[in-house]
Amino acid sequence: MNTDFLKKLGIKKHNAGTSTGLQSVKSRKYIPSYTPVDGSLIGSVSQTTADQYEEVISKAQEAFKVWRMIPAPQRGEIVRQYGEQLRKYKDPLGRLVSYEMGKSLQEGWGEVQEMIDICDFAVGLSRQLYGLTMHSERPQHRMYEQWHPLGIVGIISAFNFPVAVWSWNAMIALVCGDVVVWKPSEKAPLCSVACQNLFHKVLKDNDVPEGVVSIINGNYRVGEFMTKDKRVPLVSATGSIRMGKIVGQTVAARLGRSLLELGGNNAIIVTPNADMDVVLPATVFGAVGTCGQRCTSTRRLIIHESIYDDVKNKLVNAYKQLRIGDPLDVNNHVGPLIDKDAVNTYLAALEKIREQGGKFAVEGGVLDGPGYESGCYVKPCIAEAKPDMEIVQQETFAPILYLLKYKDLDEAIAIQNGVPQGLSSAIMTLNLRESERFLSAAGSDCGIANVNIGTSGAEIGGAFGGEKETGGGRESGSDSWKAYMRRQTNTINWGDKVPLAQGIKFDLG
Ligand code: NAD
Repeated sequence: MNTDFLKKLGIKKHNAGTSTGLQSVKSRKYIPSYTPVDGSLIGSVSQTTADQYEEVISKAQEAFKVWRMIPAPQRGEIVRQYGEQLRKYKDPLGRLVSYEMGKSLQEGWGEVQEMIDICDFAVGLSRQLYGLTMHSERPQHRMYEQWHPLGIVGIISAFNFPVAVWSWNAMIALVCGDVVVWKPSEKAPLCSVACQNLFHKVLKDNDVPEGVVSIINGNYRVGEFMTKDKRVPLVSATGSIRMGKIVGQTVAARLGRSLLELGGNNAIIVTPNADMDVVLPATVFGAVGTCGQRCTSTRRLIIHESIYDDVKNKLVNAYKQLRIGDPLDVNNHVGPLIDKDAVNTYLAALEKIREQGGKFAVEGGVLDGPGYESGCYVKPCIAEAKPDMEIVQQETFAPILYLLKYKDLDEAIAIQNGVPQGLSSAIMTLNLRESERFLSAAGSDCGIANVNIGTSGAEIGGAFGGEKETGGGRESGSDSWKAYMRRQTNTINWGDKVPLAQGIKFDLG
């Protein structure tokens, strides 16, 4: 494997996992990063100690004092320059994402493109952090609201989008005037080092303190440094529902704010009015893309009984075309799962499907032999199931697609909504009444509801996130920026009297 891209990104054998001068000197422990592509060791990062964390936070606090006073459009200019760096390094960074995480190179490049897109969005946003003005009920008074930065925004991210999710949060938070501290997944730490190396170059070129953007590395314990820390007013956490429940409670216990982006159990409804040329690619990409490790992966296909067999047979044929292997080879559709633990979770799910009465239309299993030495390559599979089976109700982070049958649209929507998660959903139909019913207040209960598009592959321009156990957070586009700022209502008296609101009289005689 040609790993020149590591050198281009400044990735060494041992890397500082913390962005302070203390670095590895005080670190006792290194976190190794093994690629699921061929199982080899890519490099390691030092685990952040409590002392190092303190130094990161005090540097971030100092940097905030400077950063918050830089006019927002000038902050946007710095984000623009970072976007330029990403354009320059799109190829090596995309390769690192693919190599460290295991997603296809197309998706690795796509993730970096998503970072570039959010930089562009944030640059425009830096001139649009609008507040409202209101008419005061009191004479010679003016009321308006303005938005101020919060301070340090802590970002905890999952392994499956090792760079894009950070940028969704960080680029928006930065133009808002916040500084960011990022704890990436311990399963893909080198991506954070590469992103930070690129950002620090931009900060240095602009003579802006380094503490504006920091990383800390380690497992959940390092994440807890931030969730328990009052100096971090907002924690944006992306990951499993299990993690979100703990993080949400920990941050709430100190009355901090959290923005939670958690697991999904996404479904596509296929009605008799669907265009099969749209259904098939959208479903297959949704179910097997990133080897089923997207929060928006399609996990359930809810098919009308009249077309069930036809859709099933077409999918079975489509799955025969899938090429599974090295994700850096652009001819392959599906790469490996992140690690052996993920393989075991996948295998356990296959067992449960059988136990709970599911029937496989496409069998799963682990691949072995040449090219599959890492032990992380699995077969995407399809199981015929029932909506209320326990395993169907859960998110298994692997390429398993459940086929479910329905009789009428109300039943299909009830099945779609009948899970604890509420992230992404879709309907495939050319019938206006069906699609509008699905999008109505009595339709999908998810944060994302699509028509004739699969469940995965969101654009940065919209607000991204989901309801119910998905956590309720919104990131990225639209007005998601408001989560990263505090609203201040200002009332100004330009007269020479002090009239009170609600006509209350208070005369001093
Ligand atoms: P995970 O929950 O195991 O870990 C996510 C991050 O949380 C990691 O950085 C981890 O170290 C940290 N963490 C775990 N417990 C913590 C705690 N108690 N305190 C502080 N930090 C803690 O998730 P994962 O396996 O990396 O990612 C897969 C999950 O993420 C899936 O459920 C997927 O659906 C979800 N996800 C959701 C979105 C979304 O936007 N909704 C996006 C990507 C992934």
